[in-house]
Amino acid sequence: MPVTGRCFCGAVRFRFDQPPIVARACWCRDCQYLSSGNASIGVIFRTDGFTVIGETGEYLSRADSGATMRRRFCPACGTPLFSEALEEPDYMVVRAGALDDPEIARPASVIWTASAPSWGHVDPALPSSPRQPGPVSAS
Ligand SMILES: [Zn+2]
Ligand SMILES: [Zn+2]
Repeated sequence: MPVTGRCFCGAVRFRFDQPPIVARACWCRDCQYLSSGNASIGVIFRTDGFTVIGETGEYLSRADSGATMRRRFCPACGTPLFSEALEEPDYMVVRAGALDDPEIARPASVIWTASAPSWGHVDPALPSSPRQPGPVSAS
């Protein structure tokens, strides 16, 4: 069943032909900038079967894990949409807030907990990792 989503203003719409592989909460410092101080919920999809309609802006940065990240966002409303490690072109991460159905984005694990502020809530029921547990595809 396809998975669809869009940015806040609707100028960018996207679709995946396949369901996500997994979702996880990330407390890395980069994600805190993109998610108003909380952990970001990243939903990992195969890039195969991905379609996007509308212009996206992009920003390249070096992640704490050492990967080169390409982040795409809506240039009109600023919604963070996608991030991809250039070293892992078969996978991409979608910000859960942009999905039409955020119910499918329940996190299975929490990563980069070492960067969380003391008030950050890390679900004790989920497996967690203080830093990057491995490649995107491995968790
Ligand atoms: Zn927008
Ligand atoms: Zn992160």
